[in-house]
Amino acid sequence: MSLNEQYAERATKVIPGGVNSPVRAYGSVGGTPRFFVSGSGPTVTDADGVEYVDLVGAWGPALLGHAHPAVVSAVQEAAARGLGFGASVPAEAELAEAIIERMPEVERVRLVSTGTEATMTAIRIARGATSRPLIIKFAGHYHGHSDGLLAAAGSGLATFGLPGSAGVTDATAAQTLVLSYNDLSAVEAAFAAHDGQIAAVIVESAAANMGVLPPEPGFTEGLISIAHKNGALIITDEVLTGFRAGPSGYWGIERENVAEGVTPDLFTFGKVVGGGLPLAALGGRAELMDLLAPLGPVYQGGTLSGNPLAVAAGLATLQHADSAAYARLGMAADTVAASVTEALTEAGVAHRIQRAGTLLSVLFGEYSEAPRIYDDVLTQNIEQHRAFFHAMLADGVNLPPSAFEAWFVSAAHDERALERIAEALPAAARAAAL
Ligand code: PLP
Repeated sequence: MSLNEQYAERATKVIPGGVNSPVRAYGSVGGTPRFFVSGSGPTVTDADGVEYVDLVGAWGPALLGHAHPAVVSAVQEAAARGLGFGASVPAEAELAEAIIERMPEVERVRLVSTGTEATMTAIRIARGATSRPLIIKFAGHYHGHSDGLLAAAGSGLATFGLPGSAGVTDATAAQTLVLSYNDLSAVEAAFAAHDGQIAAVIVESAAANMGVLPPEPGFTEGLISIAHKNGALIITDEVLTGFRAGPSGYWGIERENVAEGVTPDLFTFGKVVGGGLPLAALGGRAELMDLLAPLGPVYQGGTLSGNPLAVAAGLATLQHADSAAYARLGMAADTVAASVTEALTEAGVAHRIQRAGTLLSVLFGEYSEAPRIYDDVLTQNIEQHRAFFHAMLADGVNLPPSAFEAWFVSAAHDERALERIAEALPAAARAAAL
């Protein structure tokens, strides 16, 4: 038995499904999940000593690659000073300032520990600000695992084909209206049907938990305008896209396409902003954010919020995510996308590459037109993805073990890493052709 198999057997006895987050379980691809013992730059190494070029990137945080020396030493230095005090540390404001510098729409930032907390808190602020009960979300968009946001969520729920989660009360589910993405008339209709009842619309800045599906031209601007016309707030979820799709997230790209003054009200961040440690954030205009306790009536708190190690990792990551790093990320994404297209086309495998800034994903199936909504991606060929995934893994490339997840390149994906991906692709494409 390999060490990966031994670890999997041991973990399965004491951890539900052997994992602490469902998609890690290889449920949709089958086989034994790899247990990773180290990572460096673009590679990760499993318990059996096999090294892989990594395209999971810790599901987003590893923007600079694994164990970036500046991030590791920032964490080491912070750890040596103390692991946390349950009181403020000076670097928290520095991280808030670094976020605001990239997101001028944000005047105040609160640090939390997970993206789930960030979106949950943003919704609480929206309800507190508007005194309205309902929220709108879009099918296939994932905003973490809080009760009200699990309906028709992408990510692990898409991977396992789940419509929602047991354990969510009907009363809670009824407060979330799930609409079709990229459909402004559905948004208009929901506001008309629930006049004065909708507190906020939450939307992934570019959907990236059902494969990467950027909003159609005009959707973001229309959505913001409709919500504002009806007295509701827009929560732009940048947990995945933030500081990754581009220096100011996907909103930084959209910002150029919308009329002056058309702006989301609240933003949520995670992943990159914590540099690989448990940290996320929400931010927005002062008048909304100052509704949070201790200034206002909307309560939110956390023992580990603003933890000094996580703050140090996030700050070091943002400091090193300079224009050269984004240029390398973009180049790596372009190269991987081109290599995948070449190999799959050569093998006669119908597919579509999806992009949003430096994010990419691959859909297996006939797509003569760009997919627009969740139903469009649910029809993809999961068997082809499974064969492709395992062939890539066998050739030393670690892809997300789900057909519904984005592929994450890093600024550390150098020529050699990109070559290794290109070398693995022809055999994987042939496997997918079966
Ligand atoms: N929002 C988006 C867009 C996400 O992609 C995720 C996680 O993948 C979350 C929220 C939840 O973040 P976390 O897993 O840190 O709770």
